[in-house]
Amino acid sequence: MGVASIPYKINDDLVDRKVTILAAFKMISDQTCILFHEYTNEINYINIISGTGCASYVGFQGGAQSLYFGRACNVGNLCHELMHALGLHHEHTRPDRDQYVTIQWDNVVPGKQDNFKVKEGDTQDLPYDYDSIMHYG
Ligand SMILES: [Zn+2]
Repeated sequence: MGVASIPYKINDDLVDRKVTILAAFKMISDQTCILFHEYTNEINYINIISGTGCASYVGFQGGAQSLYFGRACNVGNLCHELMHALGLHHEHTRPDRDQYVTIQWDNVVPGKQDNFKVKEGDTQDLPYDYDSIMHYG
């Protein structure tokens, strides 16, 4: 099986959280062909920086791609954001999600509706996963 290795850089003010960051990498590497290695001189890499929350772009953006790892975020939060950086949307936005969940639109925080809109994508014939780290609680 082929392996993909993603370069990463940890911002200086997060060095005390390196153990947590490495644990999040391991959560992914243990179950996929994706590895992570420390940035050297790559043009494109995940740049882990502190932020008020935990956030990531979805998919490859190029360059020093910021991934925000706030102080309140745990290893699971970081794993979730890394999966976004790798190109995954939320499980509950899969094209077939209406067969599995009902979105209670009245309960969605105003302005957050986009987090529940169906996204185009390939489910790769994988079953709907209520326990996915990419599924909201
Ligand atoms: Zn998310």
